[in-house]
Amino acid sequence: MLDITTPIQYVKGVGPKKAEALAKVGIRTVYDLLLYLPFRYEDRSRRWRIADIEPGQNGTVEVEVVSLKVRPTRRRNFKIVELVAKDDSGKLKAVWFNQEYLKDTLTPGRRVLIYGTFEHTGFGLFPEVKNAQYELVEEGQEETTHAGRIVPVYERIGTMSPKILRRVLHFLVIGMPHGVPELLPEAILERYQLPSREDAITRVHFPEEGAPIELFNAFRSDAQQRLIFEEFFLFFLALELRRAADKSMTKSRVFPVDDSIREIVRKMMPFRLTSAQRDVLKTIAEELASPRPMRRLVQGDVGSGKTIVGVLASVIVMEAGTQVAFMVPTELLAEQHFANIRKLFEPAGYRVALLSARLKKSARDRLLEEIENGEVHLVVGTHALIQQGVRFRELGLAIIDEQHRFGVLQRTELRDKGLGCDLLVMTATPIPRSLAMVLHGDLDVSVLNELPPGRKPIATLRREASELKDVFRMMEREIAQGHQVYFVCPLVEESEKLDVKAAVARFESLVEGPFAKRRVGLVHGRMSSDEREQTMEAFGRGEIDILVATTVIEVGVDVPNASLMVIEHAERFGLAQLHQLRGRVGRGEAPSSAVLVTYPQPTPEAEKRLEAMVETGDGFVISERDLEIRGPGDYFGTRQSGAALFRIADALRDHALRDTAKKEALRYLGADDVDASDAELRGRLLRHVVDLWGDRFGLTAAG
Ligand code: ADP
Ligand code: MG
Repeated sequence: MLDITTPIQYVKGVGPKKAEALAKVGIRTVYDLLLYLPFRYEDRSRRWRIADIEPGQNGTVEVEVVSLKVRPTRRRNFKIVELVAKDDSGKLKAVWFNQEYLKDTLTPGRRVLIYGTFEHTGFGLFPEVKNAQYELVEEGQEETTHAGRIVPVYERIGTMSPKILRRVLHFLVIGMPHGVPELLPEAILERYQLPSREDAITRVHFPEEGAPIELFNAFRSDAQQRLIFEEFFLFFLALELRRAADKSMTKSRVFPVDDSIREIVRKMMPFRLTSAQRDVLKTIAEELASPRPMRRLVQGDVGSGKTIVGVLASVIVMEAGTQVAFMVPTELLAEQHFANIRKLFEPAGYRVALLSARLKKSARDRLLEEIENGEVHLVVGTHALIQQGVRFRELGLAIIDEQHRFGVLQRTELRDKGLGCDLLVMTATPIPRSLAMVLHGDLDVSVLNELPPGRKPIATLRREASELKDVFRMMEREIAQGHQVYFVCPLVEESEKLDVKAAVARFESLVEGPFAKRRVGLVHGRMSSDEREQTMEAFGRGEIDILVATTVIEVGVDVPNASLMVIEHAERFGLAQLHQLRGRVGRGEAPSSAVLVTYPQPTPEAEKRLEAMVETGDGFVISERDLEIRGPGDYFGTRQSGAALFRIADALRDHALRDTAKKEALRYLGADDVDASDAELRGRLLRHVVDLWGDRFGLTAAG
C-alpha cells in the first residue's frame, strides 16, 4: 500500500533509474510527485468516427489495428512504422518514426485509442496522423489515461516523457495514497468554498469528466484555484513570520531628527527637493526614528533624484555617531558616487571612503581598520562590502543603490552577516507592482514619481546601421553647440572581454574617421580605475566631446551637459538597460535625444523593445512592457522568478487570489483568530512553511 512518504522508486513504472532523474529535480517521494503539476491540458475527449475526421484538428479515434509495417529509410537506423487501422466507417493511417518496438504492441486485431492531428493526404486516401499518442484499450477498461478525456501535459523530467509522467501520475491518483495533509483551516475552506487538498490534487492531474478545459488551461478551475490560494497563503505566512522574527531579534537604533540635523542638511543642499523626494524622506526619517528596523525600497525612474535621498538619510544616521554603507553594483559607479558624496559631505566634516577592489593591500588594510574603529563615517563600495565581511564599529544604515543589479541573494547575505541595521534599497528599474510583492514581499515600497524641475522629455529615434553617417552628423551638431555625446557599444555576449574589444574598435574608427578633430574618450570595464576615473572626470568637466563606453556607464553616471546618447546594436540590449542608458541624458537644460542604431535583422522581441523605447519615456510603462515581452519567468532571471518561487501560482495572473490569501494569512496569524485554534493544524502548517520557505527567508523552528 502506498502512502505519501513511499520513495518514488517503488511506484509502478518508475524504478531506480527514473527515480534518480526525479531526485535531481527534488522529487523523492510519492508526495513530491503528486505535487508535480501539469502546465497545460489537452482535450482528448472528443471521439471521432474515421469518416467524420476534420483535417487539421485534434481528436481521438478508437480503432482496430489492421496491419503494421516497419519500413527502412535511406538513413541508417532510421525506420518508419506505418499502421493501418479501421473502424466501421473507414480506415486511417498512423505513422511513427523510429519506434520499431511498436510492432510488438500494436498487433493486428488490437483495439487502440489514437490521439493526434489528422491530415487528409489528398487523392481520397486515408486520413493520416504522425507521431500520434496512443493507448491500448483493454477489455472492460473504463478509465483511459492518454486519450478519450482531458489529459494533463507535464514538463519532461530527464528520461521521463510527458507520457510516462502521465501514466505514473494516473496510477498514483487513482489509488490516492493516504496521508495527503490538509493545509488550510476549515473556516477558510468554507469561507471560499474550496475543495479539500486531496480532491484538488486529484482533479488538477485528471480533471473530472465533462470539466471545461478552458478553465483548466486558464488555471481557473476550482481545483487549481485552491492550490494557488494555498501557495500564496503559505508564502505570506512565511513573510509574516520572518517579519515577526526580524522585529524581535533586532531592534534597530533610534535615530531622532532634530534642528541641528535640519541645519546641516539645509547648508548641504545644492537644490530644493521635489515634493516626492520630501515625502519619501519624511517616511524614511520616521522609520529611522523608530526601533523597528527599516526595510524600505525606493523606486524612482532614472534621474528622479534617488542619490540625494540616500545622502540625506545618511546624515541622520551619521549624526547619531553610527556608520553608513553605500553599495552600488559596479566599481565605476562606486567611484562616481564616492566623488559626489564626498563633495557634499566633507565640508560638513564627515569622512567618506571608497573601498575599491583596486586598492593596494596596505591601503586597504588601513581603510578596513579605520572603518572598524569608526574613523570613517560612510563607506562607498560594491557589494564586496558585505561579501567580504567588512567590520564596522557600528553600522546604522546600509544603502543598496540600483538594486536591480543585485539579486535577492545579497539582501539575504546582508542579513546573514548580522547587519541588523536599517536598510534602504533604491532602484531605477521600477518593478511592476504585481511583481514587487513577490520579489520584495519583505520590503516596504516608496515611489519617487516626480522628476526634478526643468527636465525635458528625451526624443528617441531609431536608425539603421546603414544610416550611421546621419547619426555622426547629429553628433557633430550637438558637439558644435557645446554639448557632449555618449556612444555606447554593443553588448556582445555576457563577456566583458568581447564588449571591450568592440568598444575599442569603435573608438578607433571614430577617432580616425569622422571625429578626428574632436576630443573622444573611452571607458570600459577593463581599464585601471585611475584611467577610467580620469576619463570620466574629464567628461564631467566638459573636456571630452564624445565618450565611447561599454555598458559600464549604464547606471548612475551623471553629466548634465551630455545631450545625446547613441546606442549601437540597440537590438541586443534589454529594455530596462536601454531605458537606463537613455536616462544618462536629459539631465540638463538642453533638449536631449537618444538614437537607437540597429543592425538587421532584429528579432520580433527586439522589435517590440525598440518600439516601446520610441513610444514612451515612462519607466513604469517600460517595466510593464518588459514584463509583457519576456513573461515573469524570465523577468528577474530564474532564481528570482515567480516561476521558481511557486509551483502553480502566478503573481500576475492570480493577483486577486494573492490579495485574498495575504489578507487571510495576516488574519490567521492574528492572535485572536478562531481559525487558528486548531493547534495541530497550526503546528503542521508552520512546519510546512518552514520546509517550503525556510531557506529563502531564514526561518527556523517557527511555531
Ligand atoms: P537617480 O534617481 O537616477 O539616481 P540622481 O540621484 O543621479 O538620479 O539625480 C539625477 C540628477 O538630478 C542629479 O544631477 C541630481 O543632482 C539632480 N537632482 C536630484 N534632485 C534634484 C532636485 N530636487 N532638484 C534639482 N536637481 C536634482
Ligand atoms: Mg542613482
